[in-house]
Amino acid sequence: MEATVRQKNLYQTVTDQFDRAADLMKLNEGVRKILSHPQSEIIVNFPVKMDNGKIEMFKGYRVQHNNALGPYKGGLRYHPTVDLDAAMGLAALMTWKTALTSLPFGGAKGGIQLDPAKYSAAEMERITRRFTYALGDNIGPDYDIPAPDVNTNSQMMAWMMDTYISTRKPADRQKNIHIVTGKPVNSGGLSGRDASTGLGVVFTIDEWAEINKIDLKKTSYIIQGFGKVGYWAAHFMNQRGATLLAVQDGSGTIFNSKGLNVEELYQYTKTNNGLVKGYSKAEEIDKIEFFKIKADIFIPAALGNQVTEETAPLLNVKLIAEGANGPTNSGGEKICQERGIKIIPDILCNSGGVIGSYFEWIQNKHQEIMELDEVNKRLKSKMSKAFGEMVKAADHYKTDWRTASYIVAISKIENSYRERGIFP
Ligand code: GLU
Repeated sequence: MEATVRQKNLYQTVTDQFDRAADLMKLNEGVRKILSHPQSEIIVNFPVKMDNGKIEMFKGYRVQHNNALGPYKGGLRYHPTVDLDAAMGLAALMTWKTALTSLPFGGAKGGIQLDPAKYSAAEMERITRRFTYALGDNIGPDYDIPAPDVNTNSQMMAWMMDTYISTRKPADRQKNIHIVTGKPVNSGGLSGRDASTGLGVVFTIDEWAEINKIDLKKTSYIIQGFGKVGYWAAHFMNQRGATLLAVQDGSGTIFNSKGLNVEELYQYTKTNNGLVKGYSKAEEIDKIEFFKIKADIFIPAALGNQVTEETAPLLNVKLIAEGANGPTNSGGEKICQERGIKIIPDILCNSGGVIGSYFEWIQNKHQEIMELDEVNKRLKSKMSKAFGEMVKAADHYKTDWRTASYIVAISKIENSYRERGIFP
């Protein structure tokens, strides 16, 4: 058998994507140099006392890619794949995502390299609080604002907020609650923030369906990941009458040719550590068989590097809607293009999360409460505007949607550098 093609890491994927756009748009050479590097790469090593009384050391990362358009913004993930390269790639994606959707933010990302399944809830709380403390003034409510990402949730954001404000002067505590977004609604969070990434994914699928005159009621889809993004995307696809054929997560792959009941499956996962394996109204299939399923839409909503040189030739779908960050590597992308599989790029497709975060941030700064109807209306309008700008750029530059969305995003940052110049 021929040697398997080595998967490029996420940073390389994002760099390739940037280079393609920068070449095509003839990006200013100086700005290109600036955007090719993150502004800061922060690594903290910090101790945490485990339940057994022993001390364990953890390594936490925060990469701040660019803040030309506003404070750094982006999630923190807890996963064994977290390292400096991954954080660099993901931080750059945040810069493009916030610029594309016209948010007054830059881009950052970070996390801790660990497997959360190995720690108790009490240990996760101490790890999260100590990480927040270790980051110290490298984050700030108007400087760098973390949020949930893979394996982090609103509970952890509440611990981060509480830790951060507890280390401020008493009179400054309440005015700093926008240090993180994605908090529980009761603690300053936004109604609808939990669903906003998945809802945004489906808003972009709506736009694709409209362009192609496709009735989503008659479509089928497959999902990778059934967490914060995957479940909510399925929930809203279900509302449109589409049929979910298969779900793959870290525990396995389940398939039902007649369709899976989204809400029932979700209730099942709640009793099964969030995992789909063992769900009785589906058959379990092999990991690689998942990619061969004939469906209209594939929603990768888990980790990066899933649509690759190995899996892209197997796909039997019309559209990939990237709920995850960096799910398609450069080799996979090329194969999809050759095979006529359309991709709604991550920086647009999953931008509903950070748009929701922006509304939460404003809500906290203005000490007001935004109602769910208003949140969803504004989310739709922001995403639809960005979608339109992407399609226009794709026509103008005769390019794919990903490169077009990068061009839209990078142009805004390029203009800002042009207007301001470089200090000194
Ligand atoms: N982690 C999410 C993302 O990758 C949300 C980031 C945020 O809300 O700041 O877009």
